[in-house]
Amino acid sequence: MIRFDYHIHTHLCGHARGTMEEMVRHAISMGFKDIGFADHLPLTYTNDRSLSMEKEELPAYVQEVLRLKEFFSDKITVRLGIEADYYPPHMDEVERMLSEHPFEYVIGSIHYLRDWIFDDPRYVSRFEQIDLNAFYEEYFMNLVRMVETGLFSVVAHPDLIKKFGHRASIDLEPYYREILLAIKEGGLCYEINTSGLRWPAGEMYPEPAFIRLGAELEVPVTLGSDAHCPEDIGRDFDKALNLLLESGYREIVMLDNRSWKKIPILSVSE
Ligand code: ZN
Ligand code: FE
Ligand code: FE
Ligand code: ZN
Repeated sequence: MIRFDYHIHTHLCGHARGTMEEMVRHAISMGFKDIGFADHLPLTYTNDRSLSMEKEELPAYVQEVLRLKEFFSDKITVRLGIEADYYPPHMDEVERMLSEHPFEYVIGSIHYLRDWIFDDPRYVSRFEQIDLNAFYEEYFMNLVRMVETGLFSVVAHPDLIKKFGHRASIDLEPYYREILLAIKEGGLCYEINTSGLRWPAGEMYPEPAFIRLGAELEVPVTLGSDAHCPEDIGRDFDKALNLLLESGYREIVMLDNRSWKKIPILSVSE
């Protein structure tokens, strides 16, 4: 049994709890063998300090992850990852920040579209004022462009828009197909992100239809909890693994140096 989780935040982002060392110790106590910190890269579209670390804090984040990697190396593999936003006007700056540190993988996300942090509970009322279907279309088209930049190794929470329960009424399959094929072609994977279960969406990201199509198209998939506190590390992974099996997947991917390697799902589940 190999337990791993590649989407863990830290207190540096301003909206998580627990020290990084507590996170690692908790993961070890839960039997994890491989974890990755993927805190938010300093955001370039907002100065809101409750959403990401400051640019000046990035070196300290990197140093602390590398210290923990070394310190706990006989008990667990700790990886240096990062979650970076795709925000077209500032990709030069994002690319520069990514190149300055030895990140082992980069989780690509879109949380900001149309000058709106659409997954932030403070701004949820704006959903009442938009054409939801058009917003979904725009979001997925941006995800494809994000993948095509070549800067990312994982697509985070692929249908994050549903977080507060707002569902498109159009058929999303053509969009799912396009993003899935882009992921496969680019050598990326997407994550089953269990944090959706902790929000009104009431299910993981992405939804089952996306995962079934991913299995059919043989697109690599990995796991992330999006933990913002020690107890959420690996949360609901048993459900995620079952959903993958039900959807037709037999393999999942883990990191091997900086590339993705397939392992049987049955070696991950208990
Ligand atoms: Zn966060
Ligand atoms: Fe995110
Ligand atoms: Fe995250
Ligand atoms: Zn996330």
